Amino acid sequence: MKLEKRIQELGSELITNIRERGDEQHWLDALVNRAIADPQFRIQTLRFIDVLPNLTDDVELSRHLQEYFGDLESPLPELAKWGLKQSDKPWLAHIAAPLVRYTVRGLARRFMGGNNFQRACITVDSLRFAGMASSLDILGEASVSEHEADEYQNAYLEMIPAMSAHMQTWKEAEITDSLHGRFAPRLNISLKLSSLYSQIDAADTKGSVREIKQRLLPILECAQEHHAFVMLDMEQYDYKNITLTCFLEVLEDSKFSYWTDIGIAIQAYLHDAMDDLSMIVASLKRRATPATVRLVRGAYWDYETIIAEQNNWPSPVLLNKGDTDANYERCLDYLLSQHPVIETVVATHNTRSLAAAMAIAESYHLSKQDYEFQMLYGMADSLKKPLVQRQQRLRVYVPYGETLPGMAYLVRRLLENSSSQSVMDMGLTLDQPVNLNRPEFSTDKKITQTAITNHFCNTALYRFTETAEHDAFVNALSLCRQQFGKSYPLIIDGKSVQTKQTITSINPAMPEETVGIVASASQQQADTVLLAAKKAHVYWCRLRVTERANFLRSIASLLQDRRVEFAAWQILEAGKNWREADADVCEAIDFLNYYADQAERLEQSNVNQSPGESNTLHYRSRGIGLVIPPWNFPLAILTGMLAATIVCGNTAIVKPSSQTPVIAAKFVELIHQAGVPEGVVNLLTGSGADIGEYLANHVDIQVIAFTGSMVVGTRLINIAAQFQPGQIHLKRIIAEMGGKNAIIVDTDADMDEAVTGTVSSAFGFQGQKCSAASRVIVLDHAYDSFLERLVETTRSRRMGSPEDPGNVMGPVISAQAQTNILSAIDDGRQHARLALYDTTNHFEHGYYIPPVIFTEVAAESALAQQEIFGPVLSVLRAGDFDQALQLANYSQYALTGGVYSRDPDHLKRAKSEFNVGNLYLNRKITGALVSRQPFGGYKLSGTGYKAGGENYLLQFMDSSTVTENTMRRGFAPPEGHKA
Ligand code: NAD
Repeated sequence: MKLEKRIQELGSELITNIRERGDEQHWLDALVNRAIADPQFRIQTLRFIDVLPNLTDDVELSRHLQEYFGDLESPLPELAKWGLKQSDKPWLAHIAAPLVRYTVRGLARRFMGGNNFQRACITVDSLRFAGMASSLDILGEASVSEHEADEYQNAYLEMIPAMSAHMQTWKEAEITDSLHGRFAPRLNISLKLSSLYSQIDAADTKGSVREIKQRLLPILECAQEHHAFVMLDMEQYDYKNITLTCFLEVLEDSKFSYWTDIGIAIQAYLHDAMDDLSMIVASLKRRATPATVRLVRGAYWDYETIIAEQNNWPSPVLLNKGDTDANYERCLDYLLSQHPVIETVVATHNTRSLAAAMAIAESYHLSKQDYEFQMLYGMADSLKKPLVQRQQRLRVYVPYGETLPGMAYLVRRLLENSSSQSVMDMGLTLDQPVNLNRPEFSTDKKITQTAITNHFCNTALYRFTETAEHDAFVNALSLCRQQFGKSYPLIIDGKSVQTKQTITSINPAMPEETVGIVASASQQQADTVLLAAKKAHVYWCRLRVTERANFLRSIASLLQDRRVEFAAWQILEAGKNWREADADVCEAIDFLNYYADQAERLEQSNVNQSPGESNTLHYRSRGIGLVIPPWNFPLAILTGMLAATIVCGNTAIVKPSSQTPVIAAKFVELIHQAGVPEGVVNLLTGSGADIGEYLANHVDIQVIAFTGSMVVGTRLINIAAQFQPGQIHLKRIIAEMGGKNAIIVDTDADMDEAVTGTVSSAFGFQGQKCSAASRVIVLDHAYDSFLERLVETTRSRRMGSPEDPGNVMGPVISAQAQTNILSAIDDGRQHARLALYDTTNHFEHGYYIPPVIFTEVAAESALAQQEIFGPVLSVLRAGDFDQALQLANYSQYALTGGVYSRDPDHLKRAKSEFNVGNLYLNRKITGALVSRQPFGGYKLSGTGYKAGGENYLLQFMDSSTVTENTMRRGFAPPEGHKA
């Protein structure tokens, strides 16, 4: 209570100091007030500021403004507004545009300490003059290539000696120069570790830490030499453990064991904050030399909550702002109690937290030199002077650098500034009351967002932020390896059947290794399987839909329990990386649950009724379904097509790809473990051209569910159309085929996103996804800079055994695929220019092909028209958006496509004019989720309704409408009456 009283006293004093000082009303405050009052205006303003640096052309800039703000009142000087309204006089754009840029530059200046070193020097000088220290952050969000990571490192290596020398010229100042009884380094820098390694990934924490340290240690040595302090900033949750591990490893490195001038930021909005602090304290106690923790609330709250919700992950951040405030004070108390083992930086703009820090420090008998405050440049200026007047140590975080990378920072700050709660807390506007109430934890301790609902919900992918997830993969890989070489029979009528012929399935990363030996069926065995499937159909089709749906749910639940094992098989048999293998299994689980729900929904189908008449619509199974999946989604696509077949009452013969038969055999084993009756699902591994075609031709097959190449698909469509003797039905074929997918990169695209999105769309799973980007069409204006970054980013991807989570690229599926792709590359070289084909990495084993980028590709050339199904990307140039759309649509396929643009009009046009089954705007074009992005194309990409969509099951059934006249001699039961 004594402490609380003291907090209130100090808080009130601070508020009085602020009011006494008075505050110049900044035009930004008006903007902020408007943004709080009008959410639409807030969104459009932030989006416009985000795109502005790309709009170097005046006419483009004014067009964007009109599109963004429409009838909304724009945040512009009057003259600029007037100029923009005269859209019929384009020359006026040349008057308005510079004014707009000037306005936003002013905004940027409010939060950034200059766009170059010299300006940063002026900023830190003036802060020093005002009695404040500084921490310098060179602006640059995550590096997308190793080249950019090198540049980021160099920027610090150059800045440290120069800035340190500059600061040595300062006269001594008692308060800012001494801290914890030592001479405090005048130069203090803040570093974002994600910028030091372009391939940073939580799935590869070890590798990421290793690579980051390679660039970090020279910076630390340089800092040591020039008496500078280094603070490791904390970013998104995905990088938290990596940042923390780097910090802890540096603390234990003998080179730095007596070095006090290093620190790490800890975010109080994280559930993990206190645990992480305890871990740091334990490490510092062992080390016996202090280091610093900067306690922040956390600046990525919106991002973290959206990402968690999108992925069905539990939120890593506290959802309630009051909880974050309470946690901040709890962490603060803990940190200050641990002085001098740990040195505390209180980074806050919240008056209550400032007062709490002072009061808690007093309660632990700490002096003002034993801790320091930190605030952001341009934020809560009204609080800074009162702190200095009280002789508190105050450091200002000063970001500086180019405007383009700076915009992301600026938007983050504005987002924070225009959120009504933080404005109130900071007293940014004078008329707002400041809240000094003691923050309390809400009663629901660990709120997670994964609410339990009855609706279908996508399976959450592994985030790999937990070590347990990583360890489970390592373990599963080793267990699967122990089963290498095992034999897998056919499964006919629930029984194992051995064959004379076999298929050897190998590990494409190490072809000497046999993953399994799988039976290869003969036509005679195909006949036996047809009889079994026919027999089982009699019983299976009569089950209630819910019973069949529940079988699917049981399979899903077993698969969920063994998901890591099934992912491991894909790593070993298909060459998928960890994340892709995990995604494939999750998709399989989703198909099972989703189609179970959809089958039940269809059973409830309603048709219009009329008095005296009862109308009902029924669906019934067709008979035997032949399921022919490809190897590239060896579990997900197989499961999707199979689940749809059987939940509709058909029985199934699965003929998997000969490249990935072990995964199929394991899955059919699991289906029987789930209790699915014998004969409902039969496994017939063998040659596609032989038994695949034999079955497709067979009179007893009623449905063919195929996913694979256009050549085989169209062939099966022809076969299905051939009428066989004795055939009394029309075969139905669902054929999902290839693509030649294009991404358009517009002039105003966010280039960081366009580059990384294109690279992962083109080279994810080595380009072996039907949805993969194989063409990127770039508008003239953006072409050169995009291409340069595209090449560097692609070059930075690590290739090698997919068992190592650091390798995002593995081998292609087979020797044959390797030969075909290499020959397409050779052919391409004759007609286009190679921008990337780096063969320096030689692999003795495995079917590896390094990523290839071609430029100067003619629209009608084979490179731009034919599906290569490997890591080959063609870059095409377009004069304007019309031409880009024309080029994108110039294809026999229509599967997936993407546009990176921040031009609302172009995005609107793409929605109606880009001819593809799945269009993605401002994101990668692969990774469709069941139910959220129903998947499938048209033209020569597919025949059917979309997989993972509401209509998919209709293709596996026939329907009949029953109409009954319920009127007897003028009397009819009321509607809804059950006879
Ligand atoms: P593929 O056409 O070679 O083989 C697909 C399946 O058909 C395999 O199981 C194979 O054994 C079988 N098969 C081969 N010849 C056959 C024949 N004559 N009769 C009956 N069955 C036969 O394709 P793939 O190499 O396994 O897969 C890659 C292709 O699949 C790419 O073209 C890709 O675009 C396409 N694909 C499309 C989608 C989609 O949803 N549109 C999804 C994944 C893959």
